[in-house]
This record gives sequence, C-alpha cells and structure tokens, in this order.
Amino acid sequence: MKHKDITLAIEDLTVSFDGFKAVDSLNFYLDQNELHVVIGPNGAGKTTVLDLICGKTKSTEGSIKFKDKELTNLAEHEIVQAGVGRKFQTPSIYENLSVYENLEISFPRGRGVFSSIAFKCDEEVDSRIKEVAKEIFLEEFLEMESALLSHGQKQWLEIGMLLIQDPELLMLDEPVAGMSVKEREQTAELLNRICVGRSVLVIEHDMDFVERIAHKVTVLHQGKILAEGDMKTVQNDPKVIEVYLGH
Ligand code: ADP
Ligand code: MG
Repeated sequence: MKHKDITLAIEDLTVSFDGFKAVDSLNFYLDQNELHVVIGPNGAGKTTVLDLICGKTKSTEGSIKFKDKELTNLAEHEIVQAGVGRKFQTPSIYENLSVYENLEISFPRGRGVFSSIAFKCDEEVDSRIKEVAKEIFLEEFLEMESALLSHGQKQWLEIGMLLIQDPELLMLDEPVAGMSVKEREQTAELLNRICVGRSVLVIEHDMDFVERIAHKVTVLHQGKILAEGDMKTVQNDPKVIEVYLGH
C-alpha cells in the first residue's frame, strides 16, 4: 500500500468516546498534490478525523504518519510546525484587526524579534502578505477591518492565514458553508490552485462544489469508509445513495 509521494498515511485509526467508536479502524491515504474530499452524513466522524490529525483529539489506537513522522504522539503546536494547517467550520479571524494585520500575525516568525535581519524580514513579510491577499481575492481589502468583510471573505481570510504558513497539508472543514454561488465558484478556483505542491483535505456537503474540486472522494459512515474513488464511482455506488446522497 506504500507509494512514493504519500503525504499522509492513516492506519487502523480508532477513537472511542465512552465506548462509542466515532472513528473505527480507519485506513486513509493522501498523496502529494492531491485534493481529497471527505463526505458523509452528519455524525459520520468527518470532523473527528481532522481533530485526530491536528492533535485536538487523541486516538485510542492506530497511527497517523505525515511524511513518515508519527503525529499521534505530538502536541497540537508541534503538528502545526510539522506543516499541517487546519481550518475549522466557523472562521476564527481577529474581527477588530485589518486583513493585513490578520495575515501579518499568522506569518511564521521562527527567527525571533531580536534578529539582526529583522528589517529585511519585514519586507519579506510585507510582500508575502500581499501575495497571499491576492491569492484569496482580498488584495483590495488589505486595510479593511475584518469585521466588515462578508462571511465568504472571512472564510477566505482564514484560508489565507493558513496559506501564509505554507503548510504541506491543508485541511478545511466545510469551507463553502454560508457562501454565495459566486463565492463558491471562486473558492473552487482557489482550492484548485492551492493544491499544487501540497495536499488538501476537504470536508464538504455541497456536491456541486465537490464535483468541481475533488480528485478523490471518500465517503465516511459510522466512522468507517463506505466507498472511495473518483466522484462518478462514488456517486453511482448504491450504498452511498442509500445512506447519503439519496436523502
Ligand atoms: P461529522 O463531522 O461527520 O458530522 P463528527 O466527527 O463531528 O461527525 O462526530 C462523530 C460522532 O462522534 C458524533 O456522534 C459526535 O457526537 C461524536 N463526538 C465527536 N467528538 C466527540 C467528543 N469529543 N466527545 C464525545 N463524542 C464526540
Ligand atoms: Mg463535522
């Protein structure tokens, strides 16, 4: 099952909450440059999988290897440092700060404030902020207070706050929830762009959106994989129609 460009390998992953297995012996693989979407009914365990990968929840059994580094023993901040970025369902931006400031505070500053190259660093940070703002359709909004952005723009800003850290694995939980049709289209374009050179794992319910972005789809049901493959295969799977798409 091992292939060359594998970014994430989850094997026999289980988490049980008071005996209830929210994720049950899961095997899941994610390749480099892959945009992989996880779908499934409410309560299937989708968000819990992201919680396990980012270290918010500790597994009961199994392993999560990110580029051959075991994540199950690491703290949340160590997992971030290893190159994993995760966006939660509701945007968690600083509403009272501008778009520019939100991106600025998210920039990873490994070199410390007393560094002699601090000035050069500021220029680097400034150009990176502008580059990311352009990627997330907010270059005209850099000085705007974030509270004044639309719901969709706030979602993009949060994606930008992750992108500025250049994660190798980016995980997004229901990124287009509450977005307009136009914003959904732009988000699909954004995700198609940012999966180049990294792996992207998305949880989503909007099937039109899934169709526009997914390289591969996994259907989760009761903590287990019900079906996996390309969009067409999954959509035509009678088991998937019965537990999810038929409703
Ligand atoms: P999904 O994102 O697919 O809708 P979740 O991963 O949020 O589903 O939840 C899967 C199941 O695990 C649900 O039944 C939920 O109530 C339960 N669950 C999730 N997190 C916890 C927790 N921290 N403690 C207890 N039960 C949990
Ligand atoms: Mg969820």
